[in-house]
Amino acid sequence: MTLALGCIADDYTGASDLANTLTRAGLRTVQTIGVPADDLALPEVDAVVVSLKSRSIEAGLAVTRSRAAEAWLRGRGAGHILFKICSTFDSTDAGNIGPVMDALRADSKDNIVLVTPAFPETGRTVYQGNLFVGSVPLNESPLKDHPLNPMHDSNLVRVLARQSKTKVGLVDLATLSRGTEAVRAKLAELARAGIGAAIVDAVFDRDLEAIGQVALDHRLSVGASGIGLGLARALAAGKAKSAAVNAATSAAIGGPAACLAGSCSQATLRQIASAEKVMPVLHLDPERVIAGKDEAQRALAWAKERLGTGPILIASSSTPEEVAALQSRHGRDAAGHAIEQAMADLAEGLVRSGVHRLVVAGGETSGAVVDRLGIPGFLVGAEIAAGVPVLRAVGAGKDEMVLALKSGNFGGPEFFSDALALMP
Ligand code: ADP
Repeated sequence: MTLALGCIADDYTGASDLANTLTRAGLRTVQTIGVPADDLALPEVDAVVVSLKSRSIEAGLAVTRSRAAEAWLRGRGAGHILFKICSTFDSTDAGNIGPVMDALRADSKDNIVLVTPAFPETGRTVYQGNLFVGSVPLNESPLKDHPLNPMHDSNLVRVLARQSKTKVGLVDLATLSRGTEAVRAKLAELARAGIGAAIVDAVFDRDLEAIGQVALDHRLSVGASGIGLGLARALAAGKAKSAAVNAATSAAIGGPAACLAGSCSQATLRQIASAEKVMPVLHLDPERVIAGKDEAQRALAWAKERLGTGPILIASSSTPEEVAALQSRHGRDAAGHAIEQAMADLAEGLVRSGVHRLVVAGGETSGAVVDRLGIPGFLVGAEIAAGVPVLRAVGAGKDEMVLALKSGNFGGPEFFSDALALMP
């Protein structure tokens, strides 16, 4: 297999967002959890997104992990690597984007790297090197108060220069508007001046398309899902729009199906209420979940009696008042952790009972389930709801499995039925 595009994402949800964007643009994409083992068996794909948790760790460690991901991707033939960062550039002066970019640039031997976090469809645009979040500059947006990475300077040429060993230049919107050859000429001029990275303005999707085309002249780029979209469109141009993307994930698996809900968001509470009309629903007693393993075992026994006749849903979710009461008795982290582990126990038990179609509601809950099931990666398939694709587990052993992992507020009222309908 020769990858057209390798991506290294500095957090999990950003990785999913990128993998979903690439898939929608027509690239067959696998998202892996961490750097995969050398012997991970992958289906035929165009792109792999390696999910790391390297955004807010010590810079040296972020460099080591990113280089391990890079080596794996290059080993699979990746001609171009995108280092995926947040579209709000979450990174202080002590942050990791500059150091990781410097290391990957040295490895790739590129003279200059294109950098842009722009993602216009989510309101992130870059003009004169300044990042805007909606209508305000980054340093006036809520990111100024981010608990881990507060952003006090919207000028990314300055921000990146403070983090990086190389000088940083700008390819402005006026240059971009003159087309790809003008961008190439500007990059060559910057490189001749000894500048190793260029922030590239982008306000519209068409800007990202031009950036994607030019970026493919190089071996490395840095940015968010927006530049991923540009790269994917450039790579997918001329390729028949992939029926293969869905074919790979929509092949029926059959057998019992189950849903787990650990999210207590308004959207999930509504989705559970709708599911009650079409499938058996068991509400866990959160107090008993925290007290020990009996509650999960009771739920598993309940599920086993019903799995033969149709999908089931098990939920720990409760109203904000009940959540607050439980947290005040046990502490927020202890309560959350205990319930997540019970959900992971349930997922493990359900899979042992023959469930190969599993829907999980809740970001942290999904993380706990995926870790417990030891799933090394996913092939990304059809979109169930905005930002929530069908995922087919890869490299998890001989048994096939499809999942839908939904963070709290995503999906319409019939989310559980909608998901199962796309997971035959
Ligand atoms: P979301 O995507 O909606 O944020 P998460 O799964 O990320 O959902 O987070 C929900 C958190 O709430 C998890 O830690 C989960 O274990 C916890 N939780 C689930 N049910 C309850 C409950 N009834 N009371 C308190 N906490 C709960």
